[in-house]
Amino acid sequence: MAKASLLSRFQGCLLGAVFGDCLGAKFEREWTEIPYDKVIAYMNKIIKKVGQEKLEKGSVFYTDDSCMTFDLAKSLVGNRKYDAADVAKNFSETYFSQPTHRSYGGNVAFVFFSLKQMNYAGDVYRPAREQFDGSGSYGNGSAMRVSPVPLFHHNNIPSIVELSCEQSKLTHTHPLGINGAILQSLAIEKALLCEESVGGLDPIKFCSDLIQQYKDVTTVEDDKHVYEGQLGHIIRYLKSTELVKAKEINERIGSDVTAQKAVPAAIFAFLYTLDAKRIPQLTKFNGFLRAVIFAVGFSEDCDTVGSMAAAIAGAYYGVDMIPKEWTFACEGGTEALELAEQLYDLHLK
Ligand SMILES: [Mg+2]
Repeated sequence: MAKASLLSRFQGCLLGAVFGDCLGAKFEREWTEIPYDKVIAYMNKIIKKVGQEKLEKGSVFYTDDSCMTFDLAKSLVGNRKYDAADVAKNFSETYFSQPTHRSYGGNVAFVFFSLKQMNYAGDVYRPAREQFDGSGSYGNGSAMRVSPVPLFHHNNIPSIVELSCEQSKLTHTHPLGINGAILQSLAIEKALLCEESVGGLDPIKFCSDLIQQYKDVTTVEDDKHVYEGQLGHIIRYLKSTELVKAKEINERIGSDVTAQKAVPAAIFAFLYTLDAKRIPQLTKFNGFLRAVIFAVGFSEDCDTVGSMAAAIAGAYYGVDMIPKEWTFACEGGTEALELAEQLYDLHLK
């Protein structure tokens, strides 16, 4: 594989996040393992329909993952800096304006109601901080939308960590929620920076380096070890030559609506599918699609884990690996490409 350009990687990351969400959304309510064949059949059905001009542009809807990713990206691009009140307003107003059900988590709605009542003024972090008797949420919601952060602060780890943390605190203040967002950002940044080496990327080294980096740079010490343990499980599976079953992944790593399960599941999906031969049913697909089909297939929260795995994979493989038909079919597909380009332009400046 020739090394994808940085712009292609930025676009692969953001469009990837939307693609993974749109693909996974089809199976969102099933909460169980989806056979690869079923995911592949749906993916191909959309490709075929677009080819036959039987599907309108943007007609495969995304969910809350992409809503919030767009909200964050637009605010960063528009203000050229992080403005907490503006991001809070975007999150909340998008939530209240949606014509279609976006499957937001039930609890985050209370944060949006409070923010609206406050008219997005004053301490916009307060509603999230007060959730769950003050312990805050450790849902995967602040990690699922974080992909614009490593693009906005590319090559600047301290700023990536700080912004991942700040944007998380608008809705998810529990240490596990915040560290999930930080870890997802670090995984994307690492994927953006990976040089294509002879013989391909070493997944075990990627994961080991990621654990070390996370330990070194995270600013949230509480429950920090939880993610170290999860990445340790990933390394054990990567070292094994035996094919891991979905049931086992879900028992050991998990893939549900919590950050501490969904984020490691997404990282695992990217790394486990780097080797094209690992999963026989997926060998014929490019690396990006292997990661996303795999993630959607085994995950309980399949749109979110699919979206996060795709953001990492897109940052590594670049945008050309995403089927053009899906760029057309995904709601917000063109917008994701444009926003990624704007973030890239800001990076160059
Ligand atoms: Mg969702």
